Amino acid sequence: SPPPGEGGAAWRRRQTFYNARMTPFFISDLHLDPSRPAIPVLCLAFLQRDALQADALYILGDLFEAWIGDDTPSAAADAVADALHAVADAGVPVYFIRGNRDFLVGDDYARRAGFRILPDPSVIDLYGRPVLLQHGDLLCTDDVAYQQFRTQTRDPAFQAQFLAQPLAARIAFAQKARDASQARQSEMKQGDRAQFETVTDVAPADVEAAFIRYGVDTMIHGHTHRPAIHTIHAGGRECTRIVLGDWYEQGSVLRVTPQGWTLESLA
Ligand code: MN
Repeated sequence: SPPPGEGGAAWRRRQTFYNARMTPFFISDLHLDPSRPAIPVLCLAFLQRDALQADALYILGDLFEAWIGDDTPSAAADAVADALHAVADAGVPVYFIRGNRDFLVGDDYARRAGFRILPDPSVIDLYGRPVLLQHGDLLCTDDVAYQQFRTQTRDPAFQAQFLAQPLAARIAFAQKARDASQARQSEMKQGDRAQFETVTDVAPADVEAAFIRYGVDTMIHGHTHRPAIHTIHAGGRECTRIVLGDWYEQGSVLRVTPQGWTLESLA
């Protein structure tokens, strides 16, 4: 009931605010890039306003469209780092899982942005229940060529050798990888559309296996750009797979309360 002497509306507002503060937020796939200048603006507004009402902020990968080393000069990446650090300084811990685009984000950028890098995948505790977090590309096992590329580029020796190259060489390599990926994607799209949809989505058998392997009944991931809340059966129980949306046309934020999930768009 409202505290004595307080009107209903004001108390309800405060109650709403209190509940909002108990809510972790999850975002992914912002794909920040100079080609979509509205998105960094939306991202900064989100960090300076909405994110301060969270009690934790989880970024599940592909914050950046490309990342070829923490030493790359980027005013946009600096601005995002400052805004993220301000969120952390305001008492909202920020966590980051690397995506397939920004898997080279390192400890230096993490320090500048004030976030903690979590392994992919990670299990966290949400209101007393274990929840599996990951970027999502690990679940797309039908794309065999991509999984081979992933294994190669996650090798610490490969990464050390890549990061030791001069910036110009890294830019050239990234451009080549991007062109090859786009060529392959458009080739697949022109072929069998249904097959393209299958190959670029999660493999159901791997989703089921992940629920069982990590002993969870809830997982949250991004990567596929197919925002949805799916209910499936795995290991004899009902499980929930929450897919975050991308930030190409609008923002996408998942808020979790003890009562449930809300997957919202930000205009
Ligand atoms: Mn991705």
